[in-house]
Amino acid sequence: MAIQRHKGLAEDVYEAIFNKLMALEIAPGGRITVDGLVRELEVSHTPIREALGRLEGEGLVVKTHLVGYSAAPQISRRHFDELYELRLLVEPAAARRAARHVDEERMRRLTDTANRMRQLAGSHERPSYAGFARLDAELHDQIMELAGNELIRDTLAHLHTHFHIFRLMFHARVTEEALTEHESLLVALSSGDEAGAEHAMSEHIERSRRRLLMAFA
Ligand SMILES: [Zn+2]
Repeated sequence: MAIQRHKGLAEDVYEAIFNKLMALEIAPGGRITVDGLVRELEVSHTPIREALGRLEGEGLVVKTHLVGYSAAPQISRRHFDELYELRLLVEPAAARRAARHVDEERMRRLTDTANRMRQLAGSHERPSYAGFARLDAELHDQIMELAGNELIRDTLAHLHTHFHIFRLMFHARVTEEALTEHESLLVALSSGDEAGAEHAMSEHIERSRRRLLMAFA
């Protein structure tokens, strides 16, 4: 699949590799050669290296001295359990604070992100799934921003949870159920319902955990 457009080339190359990683077309732990991507995408080395650097920052690519690039390994069961334990401790309480701070402008942005997710969920193609994962990360980050603790927000952002968990499984259920759960969360947030927002976030994370647990069966 050659990259055609030259406007926004760096972005297109990044997107193409991101989609491959999310769709497991590049297997977790698998070697990534710059030359291979140069041939496949028919672009020069520069945008490929740029994209790989950016993906390394996002936790999807690992660079090893003298070896080169590889896809980040699939998260282990233990890492998965720890991730969800942390999320359950932090995100519901943050959602409660977000409900306290929400205003019209922020609510409009949240609704916009949720709507974009809904549009992507209608199509069952893998690139849409990757886009869905990114928007899910964005939605959760917007709520953390609202909650107002930058340290918590940064900590969660650096875990790149959404990229890791979405790589565990490609399944329509993952997207459809999440949409309904986000809806309950947004309803609570928009009405400033603190307890409701906390509960909805807790439910969402717990259900997400159960959905993805199947990947380890
Ligand atoms: Zn979510």
